[in-house]
Amino acid sequence: MSLTIKDYNSTNTPTWCPGCGNFALHASLKKALVELNISPSELFMSFDIGCNGNGADKINVYGFKGLHGRSIPLAVGAHLANRRFTVIADIGDGACFHEGIDHLIHAVKANYNITILIHNNQNFALTTGQATVSTQEEKPMYGLPKGRPERSLNVSKFILSLDPSFYARGTSTDPLQLSEIIKSGIENNGCSVIEVIQICPKYNKDFSPEWAIQNIKKTDSLENYNNLSLKNATEILDNSSIYTGIIYRNNTLKSFYERVHNRKDTLTELVDEVKIQDTAHLLKYFE
Ligand code: SF4
Repeated sequence: MSLTIKDYNSTNTPTWCPGCGNFALHASLKKALVELNISPSELFMSFDIGCNGNGADKINVYGFKGLHGRSIPLAVGAHLANRRFTVIADIGDGACFHEGIDHLIHAVKANYNITILIHNNQNFALTTGQATVSTQEEKPMYGLPKGRPERSLNVSKFILSLDPSFYARGTSTDPLQLSEIIKSGIENNGCSVIEVIQICPKYNKDFSPEWAIQNIKKTDSLENYNNLSLKNATEILDNSSIYTGIIYRNNTLKSFYERVHNRKDTLTELVDEVKIQDTAHLLKYFE
């Protein structure tokens, strides 16, 4: 029997605000999974803390919700243990570019075969709208009515500087394009970083659907854009317009397991090789 989106629906009611981009993002993800024919029992998702993390029980897959900034190492662990699973790390901009920034760097450099889905709503929304490093400079935020004094991080350029095997940018205002991007990211043999510019009508009112229509363009609209060219990708990120699509791919990079020579001819996964240890004799010392 073929999969449908209902197979991914959980019975829990979303708590996101009306109009939140998380609704569109989850719909895009489920559509992509159905079209790739990945069943809920073949998928592991790690979730972080934040409004995005509140989606952990809103999708019917194997999942784990970790500490702030730690969904990427959880995904890496799941992938290393069992490559039969499709693995997705779900994380917000606050977690990804603050507490979890080291994990992002190492996952991309190691090129683990996972997909990192970054919900970039440009604020710590769960804790009522504090500035993250991707918030525009001088934008008034909760606790900082005159804006954050520190400079912002251009997260797109930062990701590109890591030489990822796949970097794409989508937006929750275009769920059909986002779904295609997620499909390509999952199919990539390596670490796919997908930044989703996500609407947060509660704490980032500047980024409205109307604003998105006027300011966001697609790489598909550019003549001769080649996402295998680092030069093209760098130029597009310097452009004053925001472009969505697959920004950059590096097909020459080997994935992590392709570089682990001592497991080259091993047919089992680590999860098959775990030995069950009886610890009952140790516990008697604490009786
Ligand atoms: Fe969505 Fe923003 Fe509401 Fe969080 S605060 S649920 S990100 S709209």
